Amino acid sequence: MVHPLLETMRAYTDEFVELRRDIHRHPELGLEETRTSSLIAQRLGAWGYEVHCGLAKTGVVATLRRGAGTRCLGLRADLDALPIREATGLPWQSRHEGIMHACGHDGHTAMLMAAARYLAERGEFSGTLRLVFQPAEEHPGGAKIMIEDGLFERFPCDAIFAMHNMPGIPQGHLVFREGAMMASSDDVTIVLTGRGGHGAMPHRATDPVVAAASIVMALQTVVSRNVDPQQTAVVTAGELSAGRANNVIPDSARLELSVRALDRNVRDLLEARIRALVDFQAQSFGVQAQIQYKRDYPVLVNAVAETTFAREVAIELLGEQAVTCDGGALTGSEDFAVMLEHCPGSYLLIGNGAGDGGCMVHNPSYDFNDDNIAIGSAYWALLVERYLHD
Ligand SMILES: [Zn+2]
Ligand SMILES: [Zn+2]
Repeated sequence: MVHPLLETMRAYTDEFVELRRDIHRHPELGLEETRTSSLIAQRLGAWGYEVHCGLAKTGVVATLRRGAGTRCLGLRADLDALPIREATGLPWQSRHEGIMHACGHDGHTAMLMAAARYLAERGEFSGTLRLVFQPAEEHPGGAKIMIEDGLFERFPCDAIFAMHNMPGIPQGHLVFREGAMMASSDDVTIVLTGRGGHGAMPHRATDPVVAAASIVMALQTVVSRNVDPQQTAVVTAGELSAGRANNVIPDSARLELSVRALDRNVRDLLEARIRALVDFQAQSFGVQAQIQYKRDYPVLVNAVAETTFAREVAIELLGEQAVTCDGGALTGSEDFAVMLEHCPGSYLLIGNGAGDGGCMVHNPSYDFNDDNIAIGSAYWALLVERYLHD
């Protein structure tokens, strides 16, 4: 038997498929989502929400109070697109050259907007609902900026939830996980400075290229020899640049690393080992090493009680066959992790399916699955009705 809320939300779908495609046609990069943000602010205001704009520049917080309930619930969607040239060829393909909603944030916004309209018109709840539309999830991290702008002081929440689509998981299936679900992400820049010279007389130079090559290989031992084999960690050297000619030894070489972990202690260990390895390797080759270690998004940790609650709501809506209670952790990262450091809550996945647009997010051929708008919005609506009561 189909849950009545799912039936109800299907009646709302056309308007929000249209909205999703409109946002998809006009993608905007992080902290530049002015069109998207004014579009949603205007509609939320018309539906009776108290709307605050300007947190993290283009962020929007919409509040709706009903009844005498004292609990406050936050639901968060992200607004930004990516610097990718779209290759879907769909009628709603991006009109902004080189910018694309390739992570489905257009869909996340549409799902929350559909729930927002239903909840304003027919929602049976008692308490305070806060919808948080966050800019710049991809870059440079709008969650942190919204919090610095007073998000949780000005708009307190007892719990906050967010949902991300995931290609490869059956369409509309919901996936939950307690504890660490998404990895921390740190960016490391290493500049090695030696002394350039003639490629035929290496003994008169101090070669930073050989040092860089050795460091790349040595870094492979951090995960294999230092991290507990039961733990997850990734060290990727995604950029290595040095020199311009085969017969010239350059003065310097540059390495860029992406470092991921699913545990805060492992994250610390990775930093300590990478720093030590780079320093001693550089010393052994006689080159200078400059390390810039930038800690970016933290580990995303789902609270146990909130995850249990969120999962029960999913089972009530969709039945057990469409809910994965204990999904695996991912080595990707997500800046909702920063919100979860300030407020308990849970982050869940909604399957984007394997059909058209079934390729991974951040791919030029990806597209959000519009069939998820009814399911995702029904889920948000039921979560609100179950969480906010007298
Ligand atoms: Zn993304
Ligand atoms: Zn995303």
